[in-house]
Amino acid sequence: MCDAVIEQRCQTCGSVVQCRAWEDVIGGRLQWVVLCDCGTCGGGESEEFGWDETPAEVRRALLDMCGTFRLRVQAPLEVARMPLMRIVRATGEPLASLSARVEALLIQGQTGTEAELELLALRLAEVGVPTTIAKDDAG
Ligand SMILES: [Zn+2]
Repeated sequence: MCDAVIEQRCQTCGSVVQCRAWEDVIGGRLQWVVLCDCGTCGGGESEEFGWDETPAEVRRALLDMCGTFRLRVQAPLEVARMPLMRIVRATGEPLASLSARVEALLIQGQTGTEAELELLALRLAEVGVPTTIAKDDAG
């Protein structure tokens, strides 16, 4: 998957360092990583990572540098609706907006980073809903 470059301050000497950032899908979860190597103080590599919720700065850099992707559901509405309801509900979508959210997902698809959509595709595949992911031309 594509890497993005973000600037962070070195924790040792405070100079601005270009760090590599990326996301991955590991064991059915989203992992984000930021890897920095300071050339000024030679403080060595520092690595920051986390699960599920990518920091906004990292996510924005990934969308900017790696592009926005779009997932599309490749199944008829009547087949995909119920499984989609379950998956979208599990992401914490409130009941009030659930059906509109599922409708939008069926018709327009879902945009996001490549890893976010890979994870969604994985969850949908588990409930028998085929999808495709492609770079979003409009994004
Ligand atoms: Zn440093």
